[in-house]
Amino acid sequence: MIKFNGIHKSYQTGNSSLHVLKGIDLEVTSGEMVAVMGSSGSGKSTLLNIIGLLDVHDGGDYYLDGKLVKDLNETKAAQLRNKHLGFVFQSFNLISFKNAVENVALPLYYQGITRRKRNKIAMEYLEKVGLLPWSDHLPNELSGGQKQRLAIARALIGNPKVILADEPTGALDSVTSQEVMELFTQINKSGITIIIVTHENDIAHQTQRIIRLHDGKIEKDHKNGHFVPHTEFAKTI
Ligand code: ADP
Ligand code: MG
Repeated sequence: MIKFNGIHKSYQTGNSSLHVLKGIDLEVTSGEMVAVMGSSGSGKSTLLNIIGLLDVHDGGDYYLDGKLVKDLNETKAAQLRNKHLGFVFQSFNLISFKNAVENVALPLYYQGITRRKRNKIAMEYLEKVGLLPWSDHLPNELSGGQKQRLAIARALIGNPKVILADEPTGALDSVTSQEVMELFTQINKSGITIIIVTHENDIAHQTQRIIRLHDGKIEKDHKNGHFVPHTEFAKTI
């Protein structure tokens, strides 16, 4: 589903350059549920944003669903995002003046689906995440956990193959975090690939695979407790 061969990324600020990703080799297959860990500033969000076509790498090759991601203009990137990807963020990123059903329906607006049909489909997704009674409420009338479930419904409505979640439980208490993780687990069981950035061990351990970033490289990659060999490593054996 996702393949990185020697991905590099640097940020230019003024005259200085910050080398954030220093040759990442990574393969995530369809249906996996993966956690990305690492200290603050280790490049977790950068990695996720490159996977999500929200940022561009400047070295190496990235294949999304078997296709090389290269020289995409914003229109093409948006098309690929709509087709393949759903996003969930720590800060929910809901539209404050739109109610729950309108927030969930928003991705369908960009697909040119009529308002009536959009809202009907959005109600089905609200039901999936247990928010049907809250459909006409504004985000600020919802709890943190409800907001994140709403954001997950919005991520699901485009029927994505992959969900990318950047610290989705970072703003939630432990009980609510657990509810959100249960929802992700259920979504993953339906076949959707999920990549979750987190710095909480108990969150990461609810996935099948933990990738640890350190100093711009993958320091560890364990799936069900076993070491996952990487291209670089495979070449040496
Ligand atoms: P993490 O999510 O692991 O905390 P990030 O990927 O957000 O780390 O950031 C990695 C490093 O890159 C940090 O030092 C951060 O300050 C820097 N960085 C991230 N985004 C930008 C940007 N758009 N411009 C300049 N520097 C950035
Ligand atoms: Mg981050």
